[in-house]
Amino acid sequence: MKKIGLFGGTFNPFHNGHFAIAQAFADEVGLDMVVLLPAGNPYHKEDPTGVSAQHRLEMTALAAEADERFAVSDCDIVREGKTYTFDTVQVFRQQFPSAELWWLMGMDSLLQLHTWHKWQTLVKQVNIAVAARQDSHLSQAPQALHAWLGNALQDGSLKLLQTPMYNISSTEIREAVCTGRDTGGVLDRKVEQYIRQHHLYR
Ligand code: ATP
Repeated sequence: MKKIGLFGGTFNPFHNGHFAIAQAFADEVGLDMVVLLPAGNPYHKEDPTGVSAQHRLEMTALAAEADERFAVSDCDIVREGKTYTFDTVQVFRQQFPSAELWWLMGMDSLLQLHTWHKWQTLVKQVNIAVAARQDSHLSQAPQALHAWLGNALQDGSLKLLQTPMYNISSTEIREAVCTGRDTGGVLDRKVEQYIRQHHLYR
């Protein structure tokens, strides 16, 4: 059975932390493919960083070139209105009816999962892999997630990746670029060039 990994994020910009956890995701779950899904712009709102979804998509595509298992999809960008992970998963379920689907997120996202649209149905339709993230720990999970967490860890539909912690954040990268500081090797060279060429985050 084909195993497909899905990894959604703002990716503003896509950094080496994203890249490393996506690789660990592919290795540890044994995925045939990881689809990177840059989020659309907030509905009817200008992105506060002024960087368009198209730019985020292009930077993600440049970083994805470094691993042949990675593909990039504009699925969440072209969809009208608010985009929910739940709807994204339905799109891939239709496209790959018999595949095993996995979703990747960082621990900070997992701790918020109970606020996601139709989360209880979502977790029945997609397996979830979680990468460690600084300042976020499973022990902080809210009560609303407890019952599911216990079951999902046991039945294998939730997997905590063994990947080390990468203390890299898009927010810090944007601040560094904005103030003219070195980003310190946390970006793919082509992404770095792209940011320079298009004067992003200035
Ligand atoms: P920032 O990186 O500025 O904190 P963010 O977490 O919102 O922003 P996204 O691009 O939306 O960044 O992240 C997409 C997903 O990747 C989220 O589930 C997030 O938890 C995870 N993620 C991002 N950076 C890391 C990292 N360094 N380690 C582990 N997970 C990460």
